Amino acid sequence: MVAEAPTYPYRPTVSFELMPPRRPDAAPRFWETARRLVAARPDFVSVTYGAGGGDRDTARDVVSRLLAGTPVLPIAHLTCVGASRENVSEVVDEFLEAGVRSFLALRGDPPQDQPDWRPPAGGVHSAVELVHLLREVEARRCAADPAAAVRGAARPLTIAVATFPDGNVQAGTTRTQEVHRLLEKQQAGASFAITQFFYEADSYTDFVAEARTAGVTIPILAGLLPTTEPRRLRRVEELTGVQAPQHLLDALDARPDPEAQYAYGTAYGTELAQRVLDAGAPGLHVYTFNKYRPALDLLEGVHLGGRTTTPDDAAPDVRDLAGRPWVPSIPTPAPAVP
Ligand SMILES: Cc1cc2nc3c(=O)[nH]c(=O)nc-3n(C[C@H](O)[C@H](O)[C@H](O)COP(=O)(O)OP(=O)(O)OC[C@H]3O[C@@H](n4cnc5c(N)ncnc54)[C@H](O)[C@@H]3O)c2cc1C
Repeated sequence: MVAEAPTYPYRPTVSFELMPPRRPDAAPRFWETARRLVAARPDFVSVTYGAGGGDRDTARDVVSRLLAGTPVLPIAHLTCVGASRENVSEVVDEFLEAGVRSFLALRGDPPQDQPDWRPPAGGVHSAVELVHLLREVEARRCAADPAAAVRGAARPLTIAVATFPDGNVQAGTTRTQEVHRLLEKQQAGASFAITQFFYEADSYTDFVAEARTAGVTIPILAGLLPTTEPRRLRRVEELTGVQAPQHLLDALDARPDPEAQYAYGTAYGTELAQRVLDAGAPGLHVYTFNKYRPALDLLEGVHLGGRTTTPDDAAPDVRDLAGRPWVPSIPTPAPAVP
């Protein structure tokens, strides 16, 4: 655990990933998590998007509500694999129409239960193609509507991309191939990158060093997974191929007391976060899996906010997050007194 407050030469960014609730009955809990994370005043919150687009409406609704009801900048994930060009263009158009200006452009994973699956001909096959398509749809809207052109000039699109410090296990790519892929994403117009999570600081620092040598100049934000639950670490390995170190799993398994396990995992995550910040990471992006406590405790460990600095009831700007019929059980917070 970090003992003394480090002094950063700059204020690192803090951001969180949220996953839209899968069912209406999960919504109240989701919005409570969002409320507590927004209260920590992150630089942005990113909202995931299912590869098949099955949660298209929920994802757009969550992003729109964050945009309209909170002071936080939402970034909408977009995936393209398996969808037609028309379909992806339509989704982009809907997000732009809702006022969203920040995106994380992703390819998305193929369906896991279909080993022989092949992307459809004429689709959008990669994040690079999606970055181009986002700009094309925006250009089309601006050409058709002079007011949209002014608004677009005043608030240009921000397009982030994913990158994989240890290679993308599922795609079978190496670190060096992902460095070249990131360079292509930058050339296509990506503004910054967020890494897949990793367990050793060297994964991040070596990747960034190789990327800089190759000509990547955009910021590369360190993606971190709170390491408090061994079950979660095993599950994400199934989903992403990123393996947790055996010594970490053993140490967590050796602590049957949940609080002792939590404390060990938080200390591990905090040390990792501190190392990448010390090495010059511009900020931390926390994969929350819709749990606020591990994310905020991780940030508290590196003195970038957290539960102590942001008490549970400190959400003065969060209004109307749950003000729609499908999340009726959350009382709407009273408006802040000016
Ligand atoms: C920060 C971050 C956020 C993410 N958010 C989401 C999300 O919201 N929704 C979601 O569905 N996924 C999400 N993912 C997962 C991501 O979509 C997959 O890891 C995807 O496989 C790679 O995405 P990319 O944009 O880097 O792909 P690209 O860089 O476009 O992939 C390049 C090439 O690699 C190959 N390739 C890539 N992935 C695969 C694969 N899985 N299998 C076979 N070949 C492959 C293809 O040849 C492809 O053309 C996220 C990942 C990260 C790091």
